[in-house]
Amino acid sequence: MKITDRIGGDRPVFSVEFMPPKDDAGEAELWKAIRRLEPLDPAFASVTYGAGGSSRDRTVRTTGRIASETTLVAMAHLTAVSHSVAELRHVIAEYAAAGIRNILAVRGDPPGDPLGEWVAHPEGLTYADELVTLTRSLGDFCVGVAAFPYGHPRSPDEDSDLQRLIAKVRAGADFAITQLFLEPEGFLRLRDRLSAAGCEVPMLPGIMPLTTLRTLHRGPELSGAPLPPGLAERLERYADDPVAFRAAGMDLTVALCERLLAEGVGGLHFYTFNRSTATSELVHRLGLQARRGASVA
Ligand code: FAD
Repeated sequence: MKITDRIGGDRPVFSVEFMPPKDDAGEAELWKAIRRLEPLDPAFASVTYGAGGSSRDRTVRTTGRIASETTLVAMAHLTAVSHSVAELRHVIAEYAAAGIRNILAVRGDPPGDPLGEWVAHPEGLTYADELVTLTRSLGDFCVGVAAFPYGHPRSPDEDSDLQRLIAKVRAGADFAITQLFLEPEGFLRLRDRLSAAGCEVPMLPGIMPLTTLRTLHRGPELSGAPLPPGLAERLERYADDPVAFRAAGMDLTVALCERLLAEGVGGLHFYTFNRSTATSELVHRLGLQARRGASVA
């Protein structure tokens, strides 16, 4: 099933993002999370694509298992990092053979330093819109792309960043998922600007549950989204009390999600970090779990 058949209905949905496990213990933890979240009926479950070798094989394998062994709609991420076009074709063919119809086409970052110099593979691709075009040319895939409410860290300004997002949609992207952010304004502004440009694809906000002091600081570091001073102040007072921090952080995450739902977003995409507890709690508090008797894809 395609993701676009599961989002944009009359009730908001949620989706979940996992990372390929690093070892057997990680694999067990991931599958525990998948099995706990499955009955809540996420619209889809995605698996990120790593920087190289065995991690990439694990993405293909894990996404294939989700597609074949669970009731979930699976989406595989794919990046252009260190791949020739021939290799990208091969990975896309592997996804297709595993029954995966949904691909998140992102460029990826240089291995090691995400803000280091980007060097394309000599026979590869440079930007995500090219990966969208390639994926689309190889089959009947539903393709998602990345969006950045505060602009991609490499973009000179928000306007050129918007034009790049529009280019990805024009290349054939069906929907977008945003980088995580901690206050709604940037997302809502980007959504308005996209719509004003005549680009009406669904854009799902990426949500990171604020459960620890580390997530509070890592989030902005990874995403380029600002850490709102008021929010930092409210949470940092609990720096020495992890239980109180988590409670306050989850309240703030719920408030962010409620505002986005009130603004009419069609779904929320949760970065799970391969855990189920925080995501499950948010889904229940927001009333996004499967309705009794509703069909499961
Ligand atoms: P692009 O759209 O190609 O943009 C990259 C930069 O180039 C931007 O600054 C853009 O403005 C600029 N640009 C684009 N086109 C042009 C052009 N024609 N001329 C000049 N400049 C241009 N990374 C992973 O490694 N694995 C993952 O699984 C993964 N999943 C992600 C999921 C989500 C939801 C998000 C938001 C990000 C994900 N990332 C992942 C991170 C992503 O790969 C990086 O943020 C990367 O730096 C940008 O990817 P992109 O697809 O937006 O690139």
